[in-house]
Amino acid sequence: MSDGAHAEKIIDGKAFAGALRGRIARAVSDLRERHGLTPGLAVVLVGEDPASQVYVRNKGKQTQEAGMASFEHRLPENTSQEELLDLVRQLNDDPAVHGILVQLPLPKQIDSAAVLDGIDPAKDVDGFHVINAGRLATGQAALVPCTPLGCLMLLKDRLGDLSGKRAVVVGRSNIVGKPMAQLLLAENCTVTVAHSRTQDLAAECRRADILIAAVGRPEMIRGDWIAPGATVIDVGINRIEGADGKGRLVGDVAFEEAVKVAGAITPVPGGVGPMTIACLLANTLTAACRAKGIAEPDLTSSN
Ligand code: NDP
Repeated sequence: MSDGAHAEKIIDGKAFAGALRGRIARAVSDLRERHGLTPGLAVVLVGEDPASQVYVRNKGKQTQEAGMASFEHRLPENTSQEELLDLVRQLNDDPAVHGILVQLPLPKQIDSAAVLDGIDPAKDVDGFHVINAGRLATGQAALVPCTPLGCLMLLKDRLGDLSGKRAVVVGRSNIVGKPMAQLLLAENCTVTVAHSRTQDLAAECRRADILIAAVGRPEMIRGDWIAPGATVIDVGINRIEGADGKGRLVGDVAFEEAVKVAGAITPVPGGVGPMTIACLLANTLTAACRAKGIAEPDLTSSN
């Protein structure tokens, strides 16, 4: 990361996520006292993917730290689609479970789309169900995918009202780029979505007041693609080999170049990454409140 010269430009997602988890924990304790309700998150892991095992462990740990109930289901690599759908149906019917997350990627014999669409949309805390995507696109109350939700929180915290700002989202995946664009549109930004067929991507990026990079290409976005003073949110997580031969994580933005030009920027690691699990907990809390018809706590306020 850069030296202290640009410290005020760094959007500290790690600190923001820690504070958000604290607010969630207080809201959970309040829910238990006042309504006898403990939000519950079920995480389903199929197979032995090492990265997925780490994610699932972290999710379980942070769920418990927030005072929620954590249910972990580990299924073998050779699980059939029908077996997985059976488990999803059980979780849909379980009143102690308010959020269900099926860890991706799934083994090749399983159709991920069919499984995601088997989750009750009211418990779909990843926000990947087509009903939630449609609700988000049409401005109805939805469960919103965690990573773009985290990006929006960081942006609003730094910039306040986003209305009228020019936002460029690089990447159009269903889990990051598209929902990010929808969220920014709902905040009255003028939104451009760029992708691998975009012509002159650098020129598109230079028009952005807000630039979101969700591409998966290490340091693709250079400093001279960024308008002076723009706010840059780097979603990318890429492992590369450093000069010392050791692996290190970098984003989709060339941070050292970009931080000199940008008005504010998220680092990798320590920017968007920690927001994703915090927003998963926030979505579980939201789902639990909606299931019981209880007003959702305001998680944006530090009071
Ligand atoms: P996908 O691979 O699903 O999508 C990548 C998008 O980038 C596609 O829309 C693709 O365009 C576009 N793209 C690829 N190459 C180029 C290029 N050369 N120029 C312009 N656009 C390009 O990735 P995800 O959306 O799932 O993830 C993006 C990144 O974010 C990854 O690094 C991932 O690890 C990270 N990530 C981080 C999370 C976090 O918690 N911080 C959570 C989720 C993802 P096209 O559609 O035309 O192919």
